[in-house]
Amino acid sequence: MLVLENLTKRYGSLTALNDVSLHVRRGEFFGLLGPNGAGKSTLMSHVAGLRQPDAGRLSIDGVPCDRAGAASANIGFVPQSLALYEDLNAEENLAIFGRLYGLTGAALKARIDECLVAVGLQDRRRDTVKTFSGGMQRRLNLAASLLHAPKLLLCDEPTVGIDPQSRNAIFDLLEQLNRDGLTIIYSTHYMEEATRLCSRIGIIDHGRIHALGTLDELLEKLPSREVVMFPRGSVAHDLAAKLEQFGALHERAEQRELHLRGDVRLAEFFAATAAAGLPDRLFQLKRPTLEDLFLHLTGKTLRE
Ligand code: ADP
Repeated sequence: MLVLENLTKRYGSLTALNDVSLHVRRGEFFGLLGPNGAGKSTLMSHVAGLRQPDAGRLSIDGVPCDRAGAASANIGFVPQSLALYEDLNAEENLAIFGRLYGLTGAALKARIDECLVAVGLQDRRRDTVKTFSGGMQRRLNLAASLLHAPKLLLCDEPTVGIDPQSRNAIFDLLEQLNRDGLTIIYSTHYMEEATRLCSRIGIIDHGRIHALGTLDELLEKLPSREVVMFPRGSVAHDLAAKLEQFGALHERAEQRELHLRGDVRLAEFFAATAAAGLPDRLFQLKRPTLEDLFLHLTGKTLRE
């Protein structure tokens, strides 16, 4: 569905996309996970045809995007910032977007109805957008991107700053659209969202894709499959230092995390801590997450 080859974009001396190559298959729910400033919006805006790269190529559904907007009929774009007319009602907003895509008359009306139902705003169709909550505005923004029944939907951090109910409504709708065959590219800095939604994930930072794969494939890149957590202050400093023989120790706000080396068995670890007089109940176990992978790959956290 989407092929990016060696895409590079510079803003002055800053390289926002650095030689990015990526294939997204038809029907995938592809996640782009990275912190603020990683290059997610820049990548999305290139795929949406709003910007031209300094180098590299992209094609969508086999159509080379060698000029702005070349593949726009196939693409729905939900930008990070809302693109709505606040003084118009929901229906009027959708009518404007629909006409931009060449929809008119009965076909336009039918699509407006379908998309309002899809995002759960059919009862608010005549209300002006300025009376909507942030979450409702985001859902309308999403409806606007679906009017022309695109093959590829680009969602650029669509849940930033919205209530959990609207977030879940957006997740449910995107999952349904994906089951119905829509290819989705979803950017986020929340690893929970990428973990829940995406069949494949690209980890992006400083304009580079650092790792790419399914959740399981990505987590396999970590040296550790087990993480042991214990409260800061619960283990004397010299003892904590000793635990480093079993893996890498990371300081967190409330606690310490020991990422066990792949060859260390849990039983071996707990035998050693018991011998040092540390009770098992001090320790909690967790599976490594994408956050851990991000730290491993880039040396920093997703929220920094
Ligand atoms: P993200 O979406 O992951 O937060 P962006 O793609 O918005 O990241 O930004 C990537 C980098 O490019 C950042 O360092 C940002 O400051 C810079 N950048 C983005 N847009 C512009 C622009 N129009 N002019 C100059 N720098 C920009």
